Amino acid sequence: MNSNDPTSSLAARILSAAANQLYIDGEWVASSSGEQLESINPATGETIAHVANGNAADVDRAVAAARRALHGPWRDTTPYERQAIILKLADLVDQHFDALCLLDSMDMGAPLSRLRANSRKRALGRLRFYAGMATAIHGNTIGNSAPGKVFTYTMREPIGVVAGIIPWNAPMTSAIWKIGPVLATGCTMVLKPAEQASLSCLMLAELMAQAGVPPGVVNVVTGVGEITGAALAGHPDVNKVAFTGSHAVGQSIVRASAGNLKRVSLELGGKSPDIVFADADLDKAVPGAAMGVFGNTGQVCCAGTRLFVERKIYDEFVQRVAQFGQQLRVGNGQDPDVEIGPLVSKDQLERVLDYIDIGRREGARTISGGERMTEGNLANGYFVRPTVFGDIEDGMRIATEEIFGPVVCAIPFDTIDEVEQRANATAFGLGSGVWTRDINKAQRLSRSLHAGSVWVNCYNLMDPAVPFGGYGLSGYGREGGVEHLDEYLQTKAVWINAT
Ligand code: NAP
Ligand code: MG
Repeated sequence: MNSNDPTSSLAARILSAAANQLYIDGEWVASSSGEQLESINPATGETIAHVANGNAADVDRAVAAARRALHGPWRDTTPYERQAIILKLADLVDQHFDALCLLDSMDMGAPLSRLRANSRKRALGRLRFYAGMATAIHGNTIGNSAPGKVFTYTMREPIGVVAGIIPWNAPMTSAIWKIGPVLATGCTMVLKPAEQASLSCLMLAELMAQAGVPPGVVNVVTGVGEITGAALAGHPDVNKVAFTGSHAVGQSIVRASAGNLKRVSLELGGKSPDIVFADADLDKAVPGAAMGVFGNTGQVCCAGTRLFVERKIYDEFVQRVAQFGQQLRVGNGQDPDVEIGPLVSKDQLERVLDYIDIGRREGARTISGGERMTEGNLANGYFVRPTVFGDIEDGMRIATEEIFGPVVCAIPFDTIDEVEQRANATAFGLGSGVWTRDINKAQRLSRSLHAGSVWVNCYNLMDPAVPFGGYGLSGYGREGGVEHLDEYLQTKAVWINAT
């Protein structure tokens, strides 16, 4: 980082001071645990920073600050004032965008070039969308059957104190997807980043302070999920948990929320089908399907990991996807030419290599990849070669469980009836893809696929105005779009007797 650049000097300060940094009530404070966690660059295995290991007492402090802020002057801010704060924050994120991307790249491995290309709309676009939405929240006037002149209207009020719990695969954007609606609706929040990648969230806290977000409105408590996350999910003074992560932790959050009947929204994982018909434009479908699963090293919740290919083109198509994967430049994400970074951690590396072993033992055929990469300067990082498996049986673990790595199961099919049934034979329901030139096939599958998103002749497109979320075990609630704000609001009915 160039030390003359004020934006990168802020990132440098976050890197060096993160160990003592919980952001509570507008101040940087040390954790009462006195403990630290290591932040590791997964491309090199090197420790790049330490972050505070928050505990339940820190969560109590942060929730109390969020509660005070909820009932303080924040409660009386106008939508236009909140809009101005969000727009200011968006400008600051824009100004510091490269540094935020660099922190994420160093922390969790994603290629800087891809973060810069993809995250701008996903981060800045979202903030500006929610800035607009802040002034669009409204209730209704409702006719009623009461005698006399009784007037009824509804008001949309903030749900209260939110716990935002996020994973490591897109830290800055995941955080912004919670910060935006919190600020737009007038809620307050305690944000718990993933232990593997907290740095950009700490930098966002600093930018929120600069943008004029009042103390206590958004607090950031770093730490491990079983302690800080669980303390938030069970906290009697938290009104809502906005969770993004695995379905297993999502289930534990629902259980923990029962005590005070918190509202919960869950953005969970998947085993998304991507379906390629023989009539598709294969020159588009090959890179689309390949990046739909290898992008972000497969660490994408809606990755198209079950690649159904019509049998007539199966061999050719799968070979082309395999070749595409082999040609991707894998390496340290801070190198500008790299397209695919490492997996986030040693644990994730072991998990993905385990699944590759399981696949082989289950009888799947390795068409390409299937191994760790250790050549040259990859030796100490957590790199796995983009992997394509064939000869898949539907019941195999690799075809049913979320791997969260660059591993795709290529599955042949013969008819639309068959693929419709097999694609839906999963408890998950997050993303899905259809590649065809036939509008009838596209429309039929858009209706019948059990998933929160269907991409036709594209994959994993996102837009701030378009809702994203899951069916079934992929969770409930939506992020993005007008629906997203509903997750942070509750409705009050007011009856006024004017007789
Ligand atoms: P994870 O293990 O579920 O962790 C997610 C967050 O929950 C982390 O901050 C984690 O803390 C915390 N946590 C862990 N145990 C907890 C507990 N008992 N109570 C409360 N919080 C707890 O998921 P991950 O491995 O980080 O991320 C990968 C998963 O996220 C995949 O399943 C992926 O599909 C899903 N995901 C979904 C979406 C979506 O929008 N649908 C987007 C991205 C990722 P620590 O990590 O600090 O322990
Ligand atoms: Mg890390």
